[in-house]
Amino acid sequence: MSRFIFITGGVVSSLGKGIASASLGAILQARGLSINMIKLDPYINVDPGTMSPFQHGEVYVTDDGAETDLDLGHYERFAAIKSSKSSNYTTGRIYGNVIAKERRGEYLGATVQVIPHITDEIKQKVLGSTNDADIVLVEIGGTVGDIESLPFMEAIRQLGVELGHDNALFMHLTLVPYIPAAGEIKTKPTQHSVKELRSIGIQPNILLCRAEKSIPEDERKKIALFTNVSLDSVISAVDVDHIYKIPRELHEQGLDDIVVKKFGLDLPPADLSDWDQIVEALQNPEHSIDIGFVGKYIEHTDAYKSLMEALAHAGIHTRTKVNVIKIDADRIESEGTQILNNLDAILVPGGFGSRGVEGKIAAAHFARMHKIPYLGICLGMQVAVIEYARNVLGLTQAHSTEFNPKTPEPVIALITEWKNQDGSIEVRDEDADLGGTMRLGAQTCKLVPGTLSQKAYGAEQIQERHRHRYEFNNNYLDVLQNAGLVISGVSVDNELVEMVEISDHPWFVACQFHPEFTSQPREGHPLFNSFVTAALAQHLESNG
Ligand code: GLN
Repeated sequence: MSRFIFITGGVVSSLGKGIASASLGAILQARGLSINMIKLDPYINVDPGTMSPFQHGEVYVTDDGAETDLDLGHYERFAAIKSSKSSNYTTGRIYGNVIAKERRGEYLGATVQVIPHITDEIKQKVLGSTNDADIVLVEIGGTVGDIESLPFMEAIRQLGVELGHDNALFMHLTLVPYIPAAGEIKTKPTQHSVKELRSIGIQPNILLCRAEKSIPEDERKKIALFTNVSLDSVISAVDVDHIYKIPRELHEQGLDDIVVKKFGLDLPPADLSDWDQIVEALQNPEHSIDIGFVGKYIEHTDAYKSLMEALAHAGIHTRTKVNVIKIDADRIESEGTQILNNLDAILVPGGFGSRGVEGKIAAAHFARMHKIPYLGICLGMQVAVIEYARNVLGLTQAHSTEFNPKTPEPVIALITEWKNQDGSIEVRDEDADLGGTMRLGAQTCKLVPGTLSQKAYGAEQIQERHRHRYEFNNNYLDVLQNAGLVISGVSVDNELVEMVEISDHPWFVACQFHPEFTSQPREGHPLFNSFVTAALAQHLESNG
């Protein structure tokens, strides 16, 4: 039977609960345990698919096509697990299930209530999502005291009782701020946060205290005394300059030992050599390159989380410090492409909505003309195709119907009906609900032998995750190919263009899928490794 660790947060949000949970997962794996990770999100959206990246950060996509919270990306990267639709439950999804059951009469006429019906549904989902792992880490979004998180808190409290003390433990992440005027760190917010947690019946076993510096023994003793947590389980989670240092930091303070002891397990010591290698490579780069990142949400650091990580991973594997120069696509429209001078490579990421699209098309044009390595992802592929159609084929009005529904040259268009890889037929139209009308999740792509894409991957077939509505319009396939655009990846049934590239160019590759979701710090990702290698070659050439 699986054992459970429930992770809550207190004091303020944005303390990095997802990364702390994922790091705990990583060090438990390093002890030889199998783990699974689940995120419970108290907001009412059914999934984060329709939430603005400005507010909520990136929408992470799983292999099975779930649009989820970005913390699942941390779980996959740190703990090398595969998340799925049963890895993320929101209030909206839980209520949706309960309401559907009520309509089907499954509650046999009972008055349907938060307790027990909502809490039972939450418990059932948690217990049904273990994947038979030794340890299941369950992270609850938000902070203790939020009204909307109460049903989740109550559900995990009940699970704690039902599973028993040997099978469940509670970890609480809090803040221990340093007050410069007083020259002191303050434990009061942590005391209050635990008081709040205990008032709803949850006694934490472990406190992870975010702090600028290591918390002195005296202060830890004070926290332990006031919160009823044993001293060795009051852990300083000190700010680090890179997230991949966190597994080692937590291990050094004995976090994995505390868990292992509490669960009465007898295990070999942690092997953290892969994390040490990652940190060693991050700290000792041999080169440094500048990649221009042309996007729309650039001021929001979480909006492109997986992509930033994928570039960092490629840096680890090429011993290169990858500086991401964020460029607002709007600025290219107003100031021109000269702001792209002196970059070693250009990346146009995925995106929705027309703002900045002309700037992105101009960036693809600049990269093609100046022979600067270019990686286009999803919308970044679509703009590269539009640019090629406009400037090489001379179809000056070429566009995507997403941005100009009346374009006479719809080189990117909505496919209204297409066959899924399982044979089912998907139908969509311009007015369909935003949620659930996209091509989502991992699909197989066949790579064309001899192309740069195929060489970068070193494989004939790959699986990558999708999240988009519009597609390359096959009516333009022949003319674009005749004009020199290389189709380097297609879907299994040959119906959908998945990758394009340009041959008369050092490295110009674009894909309809999102390779960033499968990039791992341990191995990196072949496409990003190849892109960063090309950027480095460009850098060395232009800097002698
Ligand atoms: N907006 C485009 C589409 O829906 C691209 C989406 C993306 O880049 N993820 O097809």
